[in-house]
Amino acid sequence: MNNNPNQAQVPSADEHQKAKGRFPLVIALTFTLLGALGSLAIFSPLVFEGREVQTAKIGDRSIVDLTHTMHDDMPFWPGGVPFTKTKLVDYDQGYLLHKFEMGENTGTHIDAPAHFIKGNRSIDRIPISELIVPAVTIDIQDKVVNNPDYQLSAADVTRWEAKHGQILAGSLVILNTGWHKRFGNPQAYINMDSNKVMHFPGFGADSAKLLVERDVVGIGIDTLSLDYGGSSDFATHGIMLKENKYQIENMANLDALPPTGATAIIGVLPVKDGSQAQARIFAILP
Ligand SMILES: [Zn+2]
Repeated sequence: MNNNPNQAQVPSADEHQKAKGRFPLVIALTFTLLGALGSLAIFSPLVFEGREVQTAKIGDRSIVDLTHTMHDDMPFWPGGVPFTKTKLVDYDQGYLLHKFEMGENTGTHIDAPAHFIKGNRSIDRIPISELIVPAVTIDIQDKVVNNPDYQLSAADVTRWEAKHGQILAGSLVILNTGWHKRFGNPQAYINMDSNKVMHFPGFGADSAKLLVERDVVGIGIDTLSLDYGGSSDFATHGIMLKENKYQIENMANLDALPPTGATAIIGVLPVKDGSQAQARIFAILP
């Protein structure tokens, strides 16, 4: 059993070897733990895409993790700085210590308005009142299946609103494109063609303008960028960040989210004057 819900990634041969050795111990410990906690019903596994997503509970509400695990083999923006973890101290010296390095935009992370617009808010200046917010989820997986370059349109948003009600001011709008399922396969996730153009879905500029009108706090997606892979002008980035909205990229487990009623908790690193930063993101389900 893997305690890590997002680890569909391929481990290195070395990690794999170590994992094999640990396996019986992990199983034994897990069952002991589950046995001890079973009566308290702290864990209630949800199954998405045939794989268990670990949850926790507050009262009768489930909490899910929308964060990808950070490791050396995860996909990152071409030309960017990958995640690397280096061991500094090992147990034979008394304890374990690593250092890690990555670009601000590697892994599950937030773009601050300062990312594109000088003078707009840096990552440390986004207040917690904008980081614990109602989350609405628009699912376009059926459109993406036949068109990886699909861009959410304003008409898609109004169609969604006709069914679920108008998006309220102060909401975070999350786009579930299904792309999060590819995160364990960097080549499929980046999806670059022979002309070095990437192919993955995004928010179209007209939908971004409508969401600014709705006065959302921000938008989020399960791909490398809010703009679709083929974008060269990053129009959606420009529209949202100019209006001081934030953006979340590389979100995980979005199939766990209902269209409305969830609350997102975005634990972004408060890096002083940062343009972007990694975040651990949870959703409390209705
Ligand atoms: Zn971005």
